[in-house]
Amino acid sequence: MTRFTCTSCDFCERAERDPNSPFVHGYCRGCRIRGFAEGYPFWVSRRDKRLSEDYRQALERSFGDGWKAAHEEIKAEAERIHRQRAALRGCTAMSVAGRINALREKLKEGA
Ligand SMILES: [Zn+2]
Repeated sequence: MTRFTCTSCDFCERAERDPNSPFVHGYCRGCRIRGFAEGYPFWVSRRDKRLSEDYRQALERSFGDGWKAAHEEIKAEAERIHRQRAALRGCTAMSVAGRINALREKLKEGA
């Protein structure tokens, strides 16, 4: 089976830039990992701090014997998406704060 990576899949590439991108290719491993990371069964498993039967079965269907490794990738991807979303939110606030600071510096210079 061909392993598609973020560099060979347009949807993965898009998701790298936009953590809210909803697009997935069913044949792409990266997309499926991302799909799981955003999915309800994964969320439930995180909440309950154990793998739900539904989630484990879905993992096995999608990744076969490699489901445990896939689960690790899914956790890492969920973490990445979370960080990226937080950064995007922070970015807006930072840039506003940054602009205010720059204005203050300018005013000080003028005084
Ligand atoms: Zn993909």
